[in-house]
Amino acid sequence: MASRKNGKTGSNRRDFLKKAVAIGVGASVGGVALERSGRVLAQIPPPRQAIPRRPFGRSGITVSTLSMGGMFDIINNRLMLAKAMEWGLTYWDTAEAYGGGRSEEGIGRWFARNPDTRKQVFLVTKLSRRRGTDFTPRLEKCLQRLNTDYVDLLFVHGIRGIDEMDGKMKSWGQDMKKAGKIRLFGFSTHANMEECLEGAAGMPWIDGIMFTYNYRLMHDPRMRAAVEACHQAGIGLTAMKTQGGGPITRTSESEMAMAGRFMEKGFTDYQAKLMAVWEDKRIASICSQMPNLTIMAANSAAAVDRSRFSRSDGARLAVYAEETSGDYCAGCGRICTEKLAEPLPVNDVMRCLMYLHSYQDRDLARTTFERLPDNTGALLTGLDFSVAEKSCPRRLPIGRLMHEAADLLT
Ligand code: SF4
Repeated sequence: MASRKNGKTGSNRRDFLKKAVAIGVGASVGGVALERSGRVLAQIPPPRQAIPRRPFGRSGITVSTLSMGGMFDIINNRLMLAKAMEWGLTYWDTAEAYGGGRSEEGIGRWFARNPDTRKQVFLVTKLSRRRGTDFTPRLEKCLQRLNTDYVDLLFVHGIRGIDEMDGKMKSWGQDMKKAGKIRLFGFSTHANMEECLEGAAGMPWIDGIMFTYNYRLMHDPRMRAAVEACHQAGIGLTAMKTQGGGPITRTSESEMAMAGRFMEKGFTDYQAKLMAVWEDKRIASICSQMPNLTIMAANSAAAVDRSRFSRSDGARLAVYAEETSGDYCAGCGRICTEKLAEPLPVNDVMRCLMYLHSYQDRDLARTTFERLPDNTGALLTGLDFSVAEKSCPRRLPIGRLMHEAADLLT
């Protein structure tokens, strides 16, 4: 895997993008051409107008259609917050666990210096049940780090099934609302998303959901129905993992051709993948990891001007998704995990590989892996995956990928 990522195919993509800039495509698109790693190939101008806004479900609140994912050390990157405010990117997403608390703390330092901006920001944080259910004192610590009295939305972090949103969670959320600590309550999920959304649609106390949703998943009939059910129920929806990266990353001729077609129209394939999701008006916002200003500017430009993205561009992405279906883990962990002798969270391990290969973020891959159950490392090489592989709807080589995770992440 590592050789594929760093080898010939990766170079081809870099060469392609460099050539595109050299022949002037970069200039014609306002310099938004990027390499996968985010290295700047041309200067990125700021967006020409503020990020558009959409209603967040039935809440009566509007949010920026692009949300700043805070999974990085914000203490040392507060310039990002300044630019986000300047560009109207005012939906900020963080979590208790991000950066070992340095994400929340960085936002808190911003509010300490700029208290007048607190009311302009739609502030979201998350608490994971896997760290325990002592949510009340932990929320207090989040609020202290964030230097605020309340968050606009509190997500239960990364649920794997709707049963985690039980009666105790409902009561706790309602109590925190009454106490003025949170305005809205919901959950985030990147596992068994359809099932979680279907269940949430029948729970009127769920206000918002952040879930994996992208050009690969948005055409699936069950996903479409689940999104519609939540939309009809008035639940605010935030999409994440919109680039559709998977545990296997390869650069194909088809991808190059698609990137070239989009560049001729004035945007990159990365921007096209965002625009495909924004075409779905039921999605209030896209939460995107934007670790530097270059990527933030490119994503903001895409949010501001989607006029060149056509229906046929969306169809081209759908064809590409079909061609590369076997490189992507759809998060349907219940399917493969049930076929194993012990409950290894396969889709979470796949996500770690995605961080490693698609995001090329080894630290994020490792820290995410370290939060998985203690016996995960031993199970990677100790289980028979043959039946699970046969059950996988995308026919992923689960055994090979689990061994690869053992090599690279343990
Ligand atoms: S490995 Fe296959 S079955 Fe398991 S979560 Fe991924 S796509 Fe679903």
